[in-house]
Amino acid sequence: MKVLVINAGSSSLKYQLIDTFDNSVIAKGMCERIGLGGSNMKLYPIGKEDVHITKAMGDHADAVALVLSALTDKEYGVISSMREIGAVGHRVVHGGETFSSAVIIDKSVKDAIRECVDLAPLHNPANLTGIEACEKALPGVPQVAVFDTAFHQTMPPKAYLYAIPYELYQKYHIRKYGFHGTSHKYVAQRAAVMLGKPLEDLKLVTFHLGNGASITAIKGGKSIDTSMGFTPLAGVVMGTRSGIIDPAIVPYLMEKENMTIKEVDALLNKESGVLGISGVSSDFRDLEAAASEGNERARLALEMFAYSVKRYVGFYACAMGGLDAVVFTAGIGENNHAMREEILKDTEFLGIKIDLEKNVLRGEIDISTPDARVRTLVIPTNEELMIALDTKRLVGK
Ligand code: AMP
Repeated sequence: MKVLVINAGSSSLKYQLIDTFDNSVIAKGMCERIGLGGSNMKLYPIGKEDVHITKAMGDHADAVALVLSALTDKEYGVISSMREIGAVGHRVVHGGETFSSAVIIDKSVKDAIRECVDLAPLHNPANLTGIEACEKALPGVPQVAVFDTAFHQTMPPKAYLYAIPYELYQKYHIRKYGFHGTSHKYVAQRAAVMLGKPLEDLKLVTFHLGNGASITAIKGGKSIDTSMGFTPLAGVVMGTRSGIIDPAIVPYLMEKENMTIKEVDALLNKESGVLGISGVSSDFRDLEAAASEGNERARLALEMFAYSVKRYVGFYACAMGGLDAVVFTAGIGENNHAMREEILKDTEFLGIKIDLEKNVLRGEIDISTPDARVRTLVIPTNEELMIALDTKRLVGK
């Protein structure tokens, strides 16, 4: 089955057409600046020349129409008709407490996604627009929602509740949700294949380290704890997000700097993290370049990131009562070997030992030494494939 995977952002729409027969990508691309003027689309048909189209897209419906017409274009398209698309899989950021797995979309599912808008005010409305645009353009084609939060719905209350009055959880659903669930689930499944063991028998810590970063403890294939929280601001130091801080800093800053709550929110989400510490950049390549030229604050930002990630190795090994493997994924996790080495420094006592020559290699690889009791894996994430496979599983039923 050919599955169109859609990841709709507020002004962008990323897409991939995947053949689930052999899990190959037929084409991928993105639409940018939707509704902003100067909108454009990129199509990367695998094995053919890239296509760049500049065309006005007033909303996501225009973007979906343009994607479908490009995919079926006689000259550079990859399918002969829209009838070849068997299903559409949508990435949806927040499923609240309603969704613990992917679902076929109907009216009640759309209503439930709408009810979660309060929890993800930037993302869920865009995801809904993408869904409705596809329903219009591909009537009768089944649509599936795959939620970023769903994988973490297996966390026990002691991990997902905050120690604030319980009534606030009941009234506003304030709790830990966790994000990047599709990525953590994908790399856990691949880890089981690489280790040659059933996922049910494994205790894993998965590090999704990109511009946004989260760590998950996966015991027996289930998320039992994760570092992001009620929002993606919690957990480790990130590109521009602070990660965990003492919440008392918020009222203190508001008072001292005469800031509004919106300004503090923007400061913690957009001006903090390694950008805030270094004053250089949120991109780890820039930070490494600056640190190697002697920039002390860039070096400090890298050290703080590594330290904030490292603490989860011990935390989650204890939470699971053991550890079989740690898994690195996403931009930094997959590509930055120096950061992997820094994070795992001083963890040898747990049985983690990496081979520094293997550590510089790329792709899906076990970088442990032969005598390591805990394996260290690098697994490029593939959220789109995970979405396509969930979609096929549900639609094929
Ligand atoms: P992501 O959000 O997963 O795209 O990850 C973005 C982060 O990954 C940025 O901080 C990049 O510096 C880092 N990154 C991506 N590619 C590389 C690379 N080849 N080498 C080092 N860091 C990289």
